[in-house]
Amino acid sequence: MAKKKLSAEKLKFFEELIRSELKESMTYIESINKEQSVGARESSGDLSSYAYHQADQGSDTNYMEHTVMMLESEREKIRKLSDAMRRLQEGNFGICEMCGDFIPDTRLQIIPYATLCIECEEKMEDKKRKQKR
Ligand SMILES: [Zn+2]
Repeated sequence: MAKKKLSAEKLKFFEELIRSELKESMTYIESINKEQSVGARESSGDLSSYAYHQADQGSDTNYMEHTVMMLESEREKIRKLSDAMRRLQEGNFGICEMCGDFIPDTRLQIIPYATLCIECEEKMEDKKRKQKR
């Protein structure tokens, strides 16, 4: 049985796309970590902790919660992107895990870590909805 595979040019294109998205997410996490350690260390007078002085207790908590949520979703994204990178090396990147068909390029350009084609994704969503009932 012939296995489907993306062309070398496409693989190269998506490898670079995944790499740049990974880098972006990591830079983002780093910047938040820096910001948080500065905010925790500096108690007064510093421009970098300006936001902490402006915010009252309540919105400060909201800000922290929001940051934690953002961090969580970025980490999740990094996990998915690393997974996509592994599939790229294994040669099954861009192939739907359910039906084994190609995932459209347009979909991969938006979500390079997609593991299902649009049809299968919809079927999965449908299944989830039915299970909830
Ligand atoms: Zn599919």
